[in-house]
Amino acid sequence: MKEVSPDQLYQLFNRSKRNTENVIKAAPIGICITNPSGYFEMVNPAYCEFYGYREEEILGQHFTMVVPEAYRARQSALHDDFMQGSESFEQRQEWDVLTKLGDVHTIIAEAARIEGEDGQSRKVTFIIDITQRKQLEVRLKQANERLDHLAHHDELTELYNRRAGLQRLDEEIKRCERYGSTFSIAIYDLDDFKAINDTYGHSTGDTVLQQTTALVSKALRDTDLHIRLGGEEFLIIMPGVNAEEAHLAMERVREAMAQNPFTEHQLTVTLSSGVACYVEASGTRLLDRADKAMYQAKQAGRNRVVIASSPM
Ligand code: GH3
Ligand code: MG
Ligand code: MG
Repeated sequence: MKEVSPDQLYQLFNRSKRNTENVIKAAPIGICITNPSGYFEMVNPAYCEFYGYREEEILGQHFTMVVPEAYRARQSALHDDFMQGSESFEQRQEWDVLTKLGDVHTIIAEAARIEGEDGQSRKVTFIIDITQRKQLEVRLKQANERLDHLAHHDELTELYNRRAGLQRLDEEIKRCERYGSTFSIAIYDLDDFKAINDTYGHSTGDTVLQQTTALVSKALRDTDLHIRLGGEEFLIIMPGVNAEEAHLAMERVREAMAQNPFTEHQLTVTLSSGVACYVEASGTRLLDRADKAMYQAKQAGRNRVVIASSPM
């Protein structure tokens, strides 16, 4: 083996120390070293750039300067625990941090404990900015929630759509079969609605639909379900309610409608409704009966509520 003089050894050591320093300086991730009390001893350029501070603004400061107020106490305690503990590595964690400009960013931090030249422990923390990924995740989540909402709701009125409504109807029937409870439904349809569209335009028609559903929803109980079956035809599911009570409720709704001026044109809009009480295990039959009753209400002159006759 080649002999190495102490002088050469010292040079090699210095060179490798310089190499290490260069690697840390060039590292694309933020690296900092804190002393046992949590004060910064070293920060690399990526760390400074990420937080928006110059090196001399950070060195000697307590690390909680980059921690939002709400997490400072907790973060300090964690730093102390890590310094006094026996683990050499700290688990990868996600944190919200504060830049010099006051922006909150999300980072992933991982840390290791090393021994300093004075024999005391130091904490080396490596950080990666995941703010954009995090924002993307939030936006994706919001988009998914919106899609999910649209799959079950009608865009114009925000009520349950037909598909979701019929599903809820089946669920209600199953509940009644199981617990021997009852419920009623009401189908209602706006009277002479085509004339409103024809006279005042489609957008006024849309506003009438929105104002109608808001007014009707307000008149219903919290436990009632309000569904847009399509066009200007709606379904209401009233759990625990018999036919007479449902008829009364719909009479209240009918009157409220007839008395309410709609849109800036102060239009009078009425509805006709058919009410049917649950007696058999078929949603389609129940809807059919309510629909026939509503047709009778239309035939009898509109602006009225008719209870469906019991099935044979
Ligand atoms: P009836 O009293 O017999 O129910 O008469 P009507 O005019 O209300 O019934 P008809 O079925 O002839 O017309 C319903 C109208 O509802 C026709 C259609 O253009 C309109 N309509 C359906 N959906 C919408 C909507 O989302 N917005 C608007 N503005 N109009 C709609
Ligand atoms: Mg109509
Ligand atoms: Mg209709």
